[in-house]
Amino acid sequence: MKQSMTFIPTLREVPADAEVKSHQLLLRAGYIRQNTSGIYSYMPLAAKILQKIQNIIREEMENAGAAELLMPALQQSELWQESGRWFSYGPELMRLRDRHNREFALGATHEEVITSLLRDEVKSYKRLPLALYQIQSKFRDEKRPRFGLLRGREFIMKDAYSFHSSQESLDEGYDKMFEAYSRIFERCGLDFRAVIADSGAMGGKDTHEFMVLSEVGEDTIAYSDTSKYAANIEMAPAPSEYAAGNEAPKELEKTETPDQKTIEEIAAFFDASKEKCIKSLLFKADDDYVLALVRGDFDINDIKVKNYLEARTVELATPEETESVMGCKVGFVGPVSAPADLKIISDYSVKYIENGIAGANEQDFHFVNVNPERDIKGIEYTDLRFIQEGDASPDGQGRIKFARGIEVGHIFKLGTRYSVDMNAVFLDENGRTQPLIMGCYGIGVSRTLASIAEQHSDEKGLVWPLSVTPFHVHLIPVNVKTEEQVSLSDTLYKELKQQGYEVLYDDRAERAGVKFADSDLIGLPVRITVGKRASEGYVEVKVRKNGESHEVHKDELSGLLGSLLK
Ligand code: ATP
Ligand code: MG
Repeated sequence: MKQSMTFIPTLREVPADAEVKSHQLLLRAGYIRQNTSGIYSYMPLAAKILQKIQNIIREEMENAGAAELLMPALQQSELWQESGRWFSYGPELMRLRDRHNREFALGATHEEVITSLLRDEVKSYKRLPLALYQIQSKFRDEKRPRFGLLRGREFIMKDAYSFHSSQESLDEGYDKMFEAYSRIFERCGLDFRAVIADSGAMGGKDTHEFMVLSEVGEDTIAYSDTSKYAANIEMAPAPSEYAAGNEAPKELEKTETPDQKTIEEIAAFFDASKEKCIKSLLFKADDDYVLALVRGDFDINDIKVKNYLEARTVELATPEETESVMGCKVGFVGPVSAPADLKIISDYSVKYIENGIAGANEQDFHFVNVNPERDIKGIEYTDLRFIQEGDASPDGQGRIKFARGIEVGHIFKLGTRYSVDMNAVFLDENGRTQPLIMGCYGIGVSRTLASIAEQHSDEKGLVWPLSVTPFHVHLIPVNVKTEEQVSLSDTLYKELKQQGYEVLYDDRAERAGVKFADSDLIGLPVRITVGKRASEGYVEVKVRKNGESHEVHKDELSGLLGSLLK
């Protein structure tokens, strides 16, 4: 492709509103342009990369036995009503009406559409297992679209769905997808980890996220410093046992604590450690209130609260709700004198507190010498806190460390979450009606592009891995007014293309400095500069990744490129 004929609008300045490297570089190097918040155009170079990522995905999906289809982006609300997600998906679902005032959603994901499609077509176990996928734009009205392509409101996703007649078959299908995902992200040149995850709004149980390791990632990965264990911090189980201090239990006492509300204030007031304090938070789980406890130096993980209660939604109660349920302000809430009918759940860490401190449900009062086993009625112990760095790894090997990650893929065992609600059934070998057993598997294709940019750049610009680069070679005549340079460049352009290389030919009448700066910014793996020694047939070959450069005769070029671009 001649550069004069494509469109690569590079910028000299770092765009002011772009906070992360991938966003800045993709804008500066002319790969993307924002239309409006969270909505982007992919310029020609980005379109090429998307094609390459998609081709890798297609190859690996085919290897995993999945067939490509394309479903509508416009989805009738009735399907989402059947699954119950018309309500539970919330404001992220983009909703609209047709001319007959019927409600629709723009596809945020396709469980409903594919389940309705398959329930009408697959009637027998003989047609199972079946795996289908598509690559398509998805729409989610994200609360905080940001970081360019990393969190958009319109983005490209590969979504696959598998259908099975047994759990074993689902397990097999899931493992195949796990392998396929690992290969896809490896081939994209990403440094990533597959981590145990929470299934969120999708429903279902077993699930892994594929996380690209990056400082700008919005997720925290808890991993073992000695084993392969890695989980999203949302899910990683915290320890259930703690060392006991063996203090003799003292008598429970109510003490005045004027204005002492936070754990820090309370610990300082009593000259005690935060480990002695019981942190009590009132949650609203669906329609019920629940008091959740954790040791003062830990934090409650609301996803664990939600999963333990098997609730659809869990939110911290508002200060007003807290006051009306507990009879006091947030800082003085505690479990000892809680309303008798209030459910109390607690992290394991609280069980080991001896002569602790907790709110007395009365303005400016706390209890001291709280011994949970003795003083808190009807308490249920479970794992409710966030794991911390230094905790024992849940697999019993090593200690936990944290890293930040960008979620590029997510695979779930959905089970019968959708098929039961939507009545998608088949006849098994014994002629009995069974709900289809499902899995679903997503990849953020546009987010993958940005993640590659995040991991592959230097101070001069992007540095694309060979597998996804928009072109292999950047061919640059230093001066297009010099006859020898142009004619040698034209010849090389033709020959290299014939040899199967993808060549971007900078035929523009720009200054050499501008061309080189653009070339570094754009980030193709190899640059061929045709300059002063063109008349002797010599060119310079430079490797973008490490700056390695070779002065070679055009007859040796093919051999050199072969070794550099294999
Ligand atoms: P996140 O937690 O980042 O919002 P999610 O759990 O909502 O992601 P899924 O519903 O599992 O994501 O969607 C499958 C994949 O689509 C994700 O793994 C991610 O790579 C991609 N994705 C999700 N939301 C966005 C978005 N707003 N912009 C770009 N890619 C996205
Ligand atoms: Mg999301």
